[in-house]
Amino acid sequence: MISYQAARDRVVGDCGVIDPVVVPIEAALGSVLAGRVMAADPVPPFVNTAMDGYAVRAADVAGADGDAPARLRVIGTLAAGSAPATVVGPGEALRIMTGAPFPAGADAVSIVEVTEVDGDDVVVRAAARPGDHIRQAGEDIAAGSEVFGPGTVLGPGHLGVLASVGLARVGVHRRARVGVLSTGDELVASGPLRLGQIRDSNRRTLLALARRDGFEPVDLGIARDDENDIRAAIEAAVAGCDAVLTSGGVSMGDFDCVKKVLNDLGDMAWMQVAIRPAKPLAFGVLRGVPVFGLPGNPVSSMVSYELFARPGLRRMSGHRDDDLDRPLVAAIADDDFRRRPDGRVNYQRVVAAFAPDGRCHVRSAGGQGSHQLHAMAVANALAVVPSGDGAAAGAELDTMLLA
Ligand code: AMP
Ligand code: MG
Repeated sequence: MISYQAARDRVVGDCGVIDPVVVPIEAALGSVLAGRVMAADPVPPFVNTAMDGYAVRAADVAGADGDAPARLRVIGTLAAGSAPATVVGPGEALRIMTGAPFPAGADAVSIVEVTEVDGDDVVVRAAARPGDHIRQAGEDIAAGSEVFGPGTVLGPGHLGVLASVGLARVGVHRRARVGVLSTGDELVASGPLRLGQIRDSNRRTLLALARRDGFEPVDLGIARDDENDIRAAIEAAVAGCDAVLTSGGVSMGDFDCVKKVLNDLGDMAWMQVAIRPAKPLAFGVLRGVPVFGLPGNPVSSMVSYELFARPGLRRMSGHRDDDLDRPLVAAIADDDFRRRPDGRVNYQRVVAAFAPDGRCHVRSAGGQGSHQLHAMAVANALAVVPSGDGAAAGAELDTMLLA
């Protein structure tokens, strides 16, 4: 058996980064930046007011308060979107709205809340210091600066920033096309079951995992436990996809043809990883395409996806090396997580939640068999229980957050 870390590093190291493409920003949500984005323009693009009020000279209102207000002559009104036509002189004020360009001559904003209109004048009941409520050009983003670096995942706020600096298109990594193939004579896609048959759940799950993680899922259907069928399916898969996930046929069964076919097609690593579930893993790069032979048991295939395929696919998609894996938090066990020593690290399906003590707590999500997909579906985390006697309620467990 090899350690999880060794198996993960081997797999991830063989997943090469996909070429960048240029896309319009409206299509870039969730994409990963391929290069640096520089700001051509400053944001804000000009000095402007942060509040509704009056552009004034701070010296004119320096001593103002409720007992001794300052009186200034109002020389006009400036809305957001208009350019100032006048200079503010001594003893003058310009009525100004949030976002309007700040006029020359003035150096502060007296906010409307401390003022009162009196005929052609404004009475100001509070002092202002130079710079008050003024936004400087470029104080959010300076012209010529790097806005975001490679590996940045573009969220809604990022797209807003790109729009604000005037970028209509952006260079991102193409979404990996991830083929998903189920294997097994017992599988039916849907409908009634004869004895011995089960419905194919792994394909649905793995396609959904790929979509959730921002990849482009490609449904490759079900291949029978037949060498020719599996060979044809895998050859078509590597011709049309950036990566392929198969499930089933990689353990010790008599009809595990996936093994035979993958070995014929290329250089595969057959790993027995010291974890439970998801011990068997096949991995190789066939015709330049990473192929993950995930185990067939439904929980195992999901855990194997999370532990191996997801970081590899994220690397292909341009995520930073320190942003490939799920985060681990130290959580308090609310249940007993007893086990026996066997040299394998257990990934227990758990429900994690923050409690009033401010700590993350975990409890079992249900049946822990590798065929018991229900508990995996309910779980939002995997508690990492090292080989040994396990953990008693109240102990701390490293916990991998899946959501
Ligand atoms: P295998 O690795 O092919 O021996 O499969 C291990 C277990 O996983 C068996 O009980 C299979 O029936 C089950 N299994 C394999 N593929 C799937 C699938 N696509 N959906 C649900 N169960 C599966
Ligand atoms: Mg099988």
